[in-house]
Amino acid sequence: MKKAFKKKKNNHATFMYIPDSESKVVSVRIPKWLPKAMAFGIALLLIVTSTLLYRTNSLNDKYSNSKQEISSLAIINSAQKGEIEKLQNDTIQIHQQLEENIKALDQIKEIVGIKKSTTSKDENKEVQPIITDTLEKKSDNSLQQINQIKTSYRELSTQLLSQRQLIDSSLTTVKKQVAFLNAKPSISPVNTRVTASYGTRKNPFTNRGSEFHPGIDFAGEIGTPVKATGDGVVIFSGWQSGYGNVVILSHGYGLTTLYGHNSKLLVKKGDKVKKAQIISKIGSTGRSTGPHLHYEVRLNGNLVNPSKYLNN
Ligand SMILES: [Zn+2]
Repeated sequence: MKKAFKKKKNNHATFMYIPDSESKVVSVRIPKWLPKAMAFGIALLLIVTSTLLYRTNSLNDKYSNSKQEISSLAIINSAQKGEIEKLQNDTIQIHQQLEENIKALDQIKEIVGIKKSTTSKDENKEVQPIITDTLEKKSDNSLQQINQIKTSYRELSTQLLSQRQLIDSSLTTVKKQVAFLNAKPSISPVNTRVTASYGTRKNPFTNRGSEFHPGIDFAGEIGTPVKATGDGVVIFSGWQSGYGNVVILSHGYGLTTLYGHNSKLLVKKGDKVKKAQIISKIGSTGRSTGPHLHYEVRLNGNLVNPSKYLNN
């Protein structure tokens, strides 16, 4: 087998194929530029192929990265959904706690003797139950859930503000009520038995005829401590005809108490006294048949039965 090119003057080259001595020689005439063009074509093909290969690899990488990204986004999304549900539950719980606070406040009011009916119209409005229906409906739409939480938080802010106002106004009322309860005569001035009650009774001196007894008598040895029956101010401490050594306390709210026939006075006019503070000692001074404490209560200057103000 032999190959040969025979140059010609023109722009063509002849390719001759000589198989052997007996066979016919085959010659192919080709343009001179063809081998160059073929080399260029092969080079171009190589470039295009390698570029395509590169692009394909790059796309594969991108696809792989995207898959990873989607996978991590799915994890984040799942975690966010969990967080949203937790927030929803938290807001529901806070709403419930706010309602519990109002109930607790009502209980405090009840304990100190403030009835709900005495609360203002505004307060009643504020104690309205909180609507949580919208929150209880769980939605798969995250955006909708977030909006629900936003609405709920706005409601919570409003509720917190009104609750604060309610607590402030209730606190003022409670303080006033506690001050009244402390001032109100409500304990026994001595821990001894009652020997004479309030009202009409037989004259203790003559044992004949009847007289009005304006207070309660308690038996007691001379020197037995006498306690103030409520917080107040001493408006009299000294001698009065009939009562002997007497202490009179003003408790405010139109209430005064009187402690008569004492052997000793331990407070002076103007002194502030606390409930259960010892103010005098039992004696038998004034119009008295024997050692005892004479105790009176007045409301707006009028005598009232002190038994109404004992241990309540
Ligand atoms: Zn008496």
